[in-house]
Amino acid sequence: MSVVDRARRVLPGGSTRTTLFVPPHPPYAVRGEGAIVTDDTGHQVIDCNNNYTSLIHGHAHPEILDAATDAAQCGTAFGLPTHSEVALAEHLRDRTGIEQWRFCNSGTEAVLMLLRAARAHTGRDLIVRFEGSYHGTGDAVVSPTAPGVVPGSVLVLPQNDLGALTAAMREHGDRVAAVLIDLMPNRAGLIPADAGYVEALHDLTRQHGALLAIDEVITFRLREGGLHQVYGIQPDLVSVGKVIGGGFPVGAIGGSAEVLSPFVPAPGAVSWGGTFSANPVTMAAGLTALRLFGPAQITELNRRGDELRSRLRAEGVEVNGSGSLLRLRTADPTELWWSLYRRGVLAGTNGLLALSTAMTPAHLDQIAETVTAVLGRDGAGQQR
Ligand code: PMP
Repeated sequence: MSVVDRARRVLPGGSTRTTLFVPPHPPYAVRGEGAIVTDDTGHQVIDCNNNYTSLIHGHAHPEILDAATDAAQCGTAFGLPTHSEVALAEHLRDRTGIEQWRFCNSGTEAVLMLLRAARAHTGRDLIVRFEGSYHGTGDAVVSPTAPGVVPGSVLVLPQNDLGALTAAMREHGDRVAAVLIDLMPNRAGLIPADAGYVEALHDLTRQHGALLAIDEVITFRLREGGLHQVYGIQPDLVSVGKVIGGGFPVGAIGGSAEVLSPFVPAPGAVSWGGTFSANPVTMAAGLTALRLFGPAQITELNRRGDELRSRLRAEGVEVNGSGSLLRLRTADPTELWWSLYRRGVLAGTNGLLALSTAMTPAHLDQIAETVTAVLGRDGAGQQR
């Protein structure tokens, strides 16, 4: 029996992550080395998916592997805190200026924790968020009409519509615990938010005593302290994940000691555990990955992304994004995904391309040529 047949017997639809699914079924990865992934047929692709932007240094980076192995050899999980979570929190504080951190295992969980923090800190119930932005799979942040969802007190507003936001805050502002925004939402097209809009949003939260919560799960890689630094605003809460775990499962929230004080263990405090949260293997791998991704590396990777985007645009490819994150626009994402895959490029199922420091100029040339062949104005078209 093929692995796909076996999979369909034991996993609904044959796989675990909806976000990885491409019909009829995705290929199976067996190995990752630097920028290259090999599947179970031996086909090799340049990895522009990088586990949905999380593998900032590609696969099996020797220093990150050493850090993870050293940590694992000392024990993979404890019913006690470890020094490793202190070290990663100190690093995050130093690179962002955000005072305190709290770890979990995914971006989804970080957003859940962020919403709990906002509601507990303000004593208010309502969360404002924006249509089309993805914040993981918690009930409060998915479509309120999706099956199985009980959304609770959430107001979903159109992206970038200051009139709608101002009116909503005028009417409900005294109930709003937090306004949650992704400054460059991938699902909404990977277009950076307008600076004037973000400034006005910031001011509205100040006027109404609501927290400004920025979801940096994807965008953290774009600046040393996250994309919000470009806008010159200070968020009350941030959620992060992906790159901060060095390739291992991770999420975290950051905020001032005051905003995160509901978590300080005491009678009446927010109780929030997590058997594997702040796992020492993740913490060690994440710290090493982030140390290897300082201002110089960030600038260089963003420059390469900007160069790739310009090159693709010059070939007639429609592409959005900023720095090391690109998103190809196409009417048929499944067709695009397979066309790129067969030609040796692994993208996100929605056309997302995330660069890694493991990519060489030759890899970037090959990515540009492959995307141009599929989507460029003189390309061969999206034939499989
Ligand atoms: N927030 C944003 C902005 C994301 O892009 C994602 C995942 N792509 C999440 C939250 C959820 O993160 P995770 O998949 O680690 O649960």
